[in-house]
Amino acid sequence: MAEAFLAAIANRLPELRLLTDPLDRESYRRDETAYLATGLPCAVALPTETRQVAELVRLAGEFRVPIVPRGAGTGLSGGASGIEGALTIAFTAMNRIIEIDRDNLVVVTQPGIINADLKKAVAAEGLFYAPDPASFEICSIGGNLGTNAGGLCCIKYGQTRESVLGLEVVMADGTVLRTGGKNVKDVAGYSLTHLIVGSQGTLAIVTEAILRLRPTPPPRSTLLAFFATLEAAGEAVAGIARSGLSPVTLELMDRFTIEAVDEMHELGLDREAAAMLMVESDLPGAAAVGEMDGARAVCEAAGATQVVQATDAQEADWLRQGRRAAFHALERLGTARMEDVGVPRARIPEMLTAIEEIAAKHAVRIGTFGHAGDGNLHPTLVFERDDPNAEAINEAARGDLYRAAIALGGTITGEHGVGVARRDYLELQRGADAIRVMRQIKTALDPLGILNPGRVLK
Ligand SMILES: Cc1cc2nc3c(=O)[nH]c(=O)nc-3n(C[C@H](O)[C@H](O)[C@H](O)COP(=O)(O)OP(=O)(O)OC[C@H]3O[C@@H](n4cnc5c(N)ncnc54)[C@H](O)[C@@H]3O)c2cc1C
Repeated sequence: MAEAFLAAIANRLPELRLLTDPLDRESYRRDETAYLATGLPCAVALPTETRQVAELVRLAGEFRVPIVPRGAGTGLSGGASGIEGALTIAFTAMNRIIEIDRDNLVVVTQPGIINADLKKAVAAEGLFYAPDPASFEICSIGGNLGTNAGGLCCIKYGQTRESVLGLEVVMADGTVLRTGGKNVKDVAGYSLTHLIVGSQGTLAIVTEAILRLRPTPPPRSTLLAFFATLEAAGEAVAGIARSGLSPVTLELMDRFTIEAVDEMHELGLDREAAAMLMVESDLPGAAAVGEMDGARAVCEAAGATQVVQATDAQEADWLRQGRRAAFHALERLGTARMEDVGVPRARIPEMLTAIEEIAAKHAVRIGTFGHAGDGNLHPTLVFERDDPNAEAINEAARGDLYRAAIALGGTITGEHGVGVARRDYLELQRGADAIRVMRQIKTALDPLGILNPGRVLK
């Protein structure tokens, strides 16, 4: 079967780069979720244009071979990991910016471009592409669309979905469809764009995106506040939300993470503090001063033990890099498993308490950091590298984390996606009726079930 499928691809798309060597295929087996079971793809296609993707999908339908769309493979839910015998379509070579349209403040791009490269290209035109996952230097726009990626400035500019005006997609039968366009306002019919963004390649494959740009904001002002308890830091987060301030960044790190980051980057952080908040403003001049003063006042009222402001742009940049490196800093200490729970912002203190209780219950070290301003936390379990019980404890503890988040009206995933990792818990959060509706949508758009099967829905 696989031979006939691959022969048909070679016949119809002789120019296509197709990796069939077992070693090449092996490197497409996993994304960043090393602990999940995966499969070896029968081949990896590296298309350069939409026409090739459409033909691949048609052939996959004909031969009933599942397809895994893949960006840069930095995902944290198993969405791009290999399925045994499936075709992985990697978008690495579809990485061209098609147009930067200054008049309409949009960029039209292929999906394989790395987020940081897109940011750099539009910045050269004085423009700003907002979505900024901590992984922005290594992840692709296609993956960001697949997961509806978040990041450090969602609190002000929203998740990836908020920056998408339209898509070109290949549907499961090979039809090439355009959803949306350059219109800022457009309510004609169902919003297929919004349905497809975040669907992890299970409903359609993105081959082009029309993304919203903004004028480049002023350089950021950056403030760090340290707290003696996690709860006090949580109170400050809720206080900032209440106060009507709209910082561009509101990030949290707990003591374990502060120590790990400071050990790696020597930033001179207060390692005695139980938690640290990073607050940033990208307002102009006096407005930024006002916003920083407001944030300082809220943090002090919540009991901050120390509040410091970066003295210049370079210092601010170091601090931001420190926060972005939180996961890698924890990874240096052992086997790290990052989670992605979210709660309504005002319930952050309760979620932080729940995380501490779960760490104690399972006798596991948990470093918590994340986008506190969005209520989105990344409790990261860190095990000794040779701990034979690590995966069993991880399974039990993350189940507890999901249940705690749901009990607080929250979510099992704020930005990493359900993928394979969290699909067993989706019904617990959404309920059986919502799962039924999701299945109906999936069946309607992909009746043969060839688009990334087993991801999001079991
Ligand atoms: C250190 C680190 C920090 C991170 N920080 C953040 C963060 O702050 N915020 C955040 O949201 N995530 C974060 N992530 C997770 C990850 O980087 C994001 O989920 C990112 O969006 C994945 O992009 P990718 O190109 O690597 O996609 P992949 O992992 O290759 O794919 C992700 C999903 O998108 C689908 N997909 C890929 N391309 C397409 C396409 N063309 N059409 C349809 N579906 C497609 C895949 O099938 C898969 O389901 C982090 C990861 C790491 C390792």
